[in-house]
Amino acid sequence: MRPEILYPFFAETVSLPGVGGRIAQLLEKVVGRRVLDLCWHFPVDIIDRRNSPKLGDIRHEQMVTVEVEIGSHDAPPPRTKRPYRVWCHDDTAQMQLVFFHAKGDYLLRQLPEGEKRVISGKAEIFNGQLQMTHPDYMVAPNKRDEIPAIEPVYPLTAGISGRVMGRIVRAALERTVELPEWLDPALKKREGWPDWRAALMALHHPEAPGDVDPSCKTRRRLAYDEFLANQLALALIRRQEKRKKGRALKTEGPLVEKLIEKLPYRLTNSQQECIAEINTDLASPHSMMRLLQGDVGSGKTVVAMVAMLAAVQSGAQAALLAPTEILARQHYDSLTEMSEGLDIRIEVLTGRDKGKARERLLADLAAGEIDILVGTHALFQKDVVYHDLALAVIDEQHRFGVEQRLAVAAKGTSGQGMDMLAMTATPIPRTLTLTAYGDMDVSRLTEKPPGRLPVDTRTISLNRLDEVVRSLQRPLEGGARIYWICPLVEESEKSDLAAAEERFRQLDQIFPGRVGLVHGKMKGPEKDKVMAAFAGGALDVLVATTVIEVGVNVPEATVMVIEHAERFGLAQLHQLRGRVGRGSGQSVCLLLYGHLGSENARARMKIMRETEDGFRIAEEDLRLRGAGELLGTRQSGMPDFKVASLEFHSDLIPMARDDAKLILQTDRELKTDRGQALRVLLYLMEQDEGIRYLRSG
Ligand code: ADP
Ligand code: MG
Repeated sequence: MRPEILYPFFAETVSLPGVGGRIAQLLEKVVGRRVLDLCWHFPVDIIDRRNSPKLGDIRHEQMVTVEVEIGSHDAPPPRTKRPYRVWCHDDTAQMQLVFFHAKGDYLLRQLPEGEKRVISGKAEIFNGQLQMTHPDYMVAPNKRDEIPAIEPVYPLTAGISGRVMGRIVRAALERTVELPEWLDPALKKREGWPDWRAALMALHHPEAPGDVDPSCKTRRRLAYDEFLANQLALALIRRQEKRKKGRALKTEGPLVEKLIEKLPYRLTNSQQECIAEINTDLASPHSMMRLLQGDVGSGKTVVAMVAMLAAVQSGAQAALLAPTEILARQHYDSLTEMSEGLDIRIEVLTGRDKGKARERLLADLAAGEIDILVGTHALFQKDVVYHDLALAVIDEQHRFGVEQRLAVAAKGTSGQGMDMLAMTATPIPRTLTLTAYGDMDVSRLTEKPPGRLPVDTRTISLNRLDEVVRSLQRPLEGGARIYWICPLVEESEKSDLAAAEERFRQLDQIFPGRVGLVHGKMKGPEKDKVMAAFAGGALDVLVATTVIEVGVNVPEATVMVIEHAERFGLAQLHQLRGRVGRGSGQSVCLLLYGHLGSENARARMKIMRETEDGFRIAEEDLRLRGAGELLGTRQSGMPDFKVASLEFHSDLIPMARDDAKLILQTDRELKTDRGQALRVLLYLMEQDEGIRYLRSG
């Protein structure tokens, strides 16, 4: 239950003075519904109104506050577009105040001729004439105090002016109360951090440009609070998982033995090492929480299969979660192929499976007749009941936060711990994994299966498109299969599609009957049909939007063409290129660029030509883009932070992790005064999932 002290923070914004239904709705779009959301809505800049020059000293585009005498009004003739102008002056120069769509009588009252006024706003020189359009403030000299010396500038939403936003945020801040201190006093002292509410107030009342800098002290304090709440919640959940009676799986047994014997290749050293690390976890009576990192094509699937077979030969079940339908079906196919002769049952379940067939499958699953279930999120729907799920493998799943972990854990046999193996081809920097996974163990596949020729990567101007198309003739005659990735168009998905369809028609004319098209708007079965035709060799050219980005495996594909490669990020280009060079043939990747406008785009093309090493590419990506963008929260599924920014504050993450660990060592149930304060923090930062694992305070 949320502590009473926090009630005001969770009140709706409509309860604030000056916020009606319409404004509340506008606010909800950009800021949120609650007072708390307004607290986190920090200014991004300041307006400094302290500059108070004589009119004659004003340079172009200056924010000024000036004392003037009002002169004549120049009202536009009715029904014209001309603005309303009011002349004013001091003893050095004249200035025009300009108003569009003005109400003349209002201005006559505000700016009576012959009287003094203090005016604040942005002055500019237009056609040699000093002027100010729509001043921010116009007051009588005895009310000069009503003009703030420095004003915060908030990110705005259409329909709410800066002034109104400022007023609303101030009203929200008035509702806030001082909260008990949850920080370790020594840390607070060392960092010179202010109290919580003082920090909040300072951030909303900046006095210098540095005060709105995300790396300023006050902001760091609040960022730390957020990381601490995040790490504490993850630690609580992890402790809960560890508390459950784990099970020791049989890592040595007939199924694993047979699989390895049957494999048409030898496992790489790297694969063997990762399998050994995973086996140690599986064989121990604690639950596993491990991340398997390995570049595209490094052979993660077989490692996962070995782990899943350990579950099966122990008499339990395993599940493999894939991010998309296509990938789920592909995993299903390759696992089925690998399991030939092993006498186990593998099935696939996605959102597409419905009706009787689905019911039958669920019945078999509950009866324990299915050993391995592959699928999308459908695997963890409410009505999916496992007989005895011991291991969940999560592929290409960056979005693996607290909630998802709980959903997966819920499918285990009650009271029993479950093993989890997450797999990713994106090498995530250590500090960043901490925020998503907490203190997860990491295994890395650093070595690629032998016999792979490097991919020949070339960058070519899009002007030479016709030439490129003609050059495909030869490899096609030699039996090559070709991916053609269509440009990422910024505006909308529809135009993505149009571009892909157009390219499809063009190529289909040149290579009739041999070209297929897949895109995100297609229905699952349709998509699968085209993919299968391409994988099976009935189609030789696959035109695609980026739907094929992750994981698809067609070893015969040896040519990858990427149109407008300059619009893709490095990680994405690397993923796409990883689709070729999977078999023993020589592969080519053609990066067709349009306009290499930025330094950055040129650097990306160069790196792609130079290396295929995913870890190096990730590093370069980090360097070129900064951590914030690399794992831009939306696309990567890193937790959405409200205050903290991975770009500016990631150095605080390991500190928060250690802090959280120590807290739970010394105050297991958060019962001390500081522990109680930390409970408040968890609720405040909406990380209360962990609290239910505490004995009530
Ligand atoms: P990832 O999922 O890491 O991108 P996959 O598991 O799909 O990679 O493996 C890519 C390809 O490499 C598959 O065709 C697989 O059969 C093959 N492969 C995996 N391990 C080896 C190995 N040790 N030697 C040769 N080929 C391998
Ligand atoms: Mg894979």
